[in-house]
Amino acid sequence: MNRLTSHTSALRASMQACRHDIHRHPELAFEEQRTAARVAELLDEFGLEVHTGIGNTGVVGVLTKGSSERMLGLRADMDALGIQEQNPFEYRSVHDGKMHACGHDGHTAMLLGAAQYLAANGNFDGSVVFIFQPAEEHGEGARSMIADGLFERFPVDAVYAIHNFPSLETGKFAVRAGSIMAAEDNFEITIDGVGHHAAMPHLGKDAIVIGAEIVNAMQTLVSRSLDPLDSAVVSFTEFVTNGTVNVVPGQVVLRGDTRSLTTQVQEHIETTMERIVAGICAAQGASYEFSYRHNFIPTVNTPAEAEIAARVAATVVGADNVVGDSRPVMTSEDFGYMLQARPGAYLLLGNGVDGIGGCSLHNPAYDFNDDILCIGADFWVTLVESQLAAI
Ligand SMILES: [Zn+2]
Ligand SMILES: [Zn+2]
Repeated sequence: MNRLTSHTSALRASMQACRHDIHRHPELAFEEQRTAARVAELLDEFGLEVHTGIGNTGVVGVLTKGSSERMLGLRADMDALGIQEQNPFEYRSVHDGKMHACGHDGHTAMLLGAAQYLAANGNFDGSVVFIFQPAEEHGEGARSMIADGLFERFPVDAVYAIHNFPSLETGKFAVRAGSIMAAEDNFEITIDGVGHHAAMPHLGKDAIVIGAEIVNAMQTLVSRSLDPLDSAVVSFTEFVTNGTVNVVPGQVVLRGDTRSLTTQVQEHIETTMERIVAGICAAQGASYEFSYRHNFIPTVNTPAEAEIAARVAATVVGADNVVGDSRPVMTSEDFGYMLQARPGAYLLLGNGVDGIGGCSLHNPAYDFNDDILCIGADFWVTLVESQLAAI
């Protein structure tokens, strides 16, 4: 790729070493003690004002130049996943059953690289708030930092985040105004009928047939009750009965996962789902319990900041390598909670299409592509120097 800007190329080796060190020592949600300590130590070394223990293991570094009150937030995530790594390389995880399979090691390293560059050479007027959050994978880290006063203590005007993205060519950026990632909810439906002998169905109330009817009826939730121009996914992932080979179950528990791109669709799914369950159970004379839990809200980019992000990305990698109206994806991201509190944008940065860079996220063979460290760091530097340019 023909790079237009390269501020941080001299930092490539140190960012890569930092990334490999974090990769080797993955830590799960809210256990990021070692990673947070390393981040805090480096920020301090670079000369930033460091705040630790925000929202549990979150770290914030503040870098101020000049006298402007303007304040920009840049966010990286630090947590790993409970997956057994299959990669053979020397920096593979030393902790069984844990690995950086989502590239948060890379996000952390490239934001640290940007902090190092901006502290030493940055030309801007204002404050940059470097946010290193815990527990993204469970959707709790952003909320815990916000609940701990993140934006009262550091009232940023806007906040941005980058996530690497396999299947997008190495170093390309994708962004869009509006929803870029989906809400994720989980549901549980317990159906209580009456268990009975498999040979005497008339004496009971078959919970398995009612459960099957509910699963089938729910296939119309998206196809028949949603505006075709809206997007949603309803997936049943568990169907658990208390029956055995010659006993029809009296109870069935159904669990699953839904995705949606707007809070309106999210609410529509919840209320429609319960109505279908209630109707079928009433018709069949069974009772039910229904619970529906919101895990992630949609990640919604504000139009002005999405446009700024696309413009900055084009300065770094050229307009041909930026998709400004990217399709949203139905996975979820807890940066949505930061975007609920502040204007901002979430961008995808191509991790590559072929080879290891193309391996999907949350896969035991996944690895962050070191070739995009400088691209991500350059994006951060260019964003800061353009948004906080001396007036
Ligand atoms: Zn992930
Ligand atoms: Zn991730």
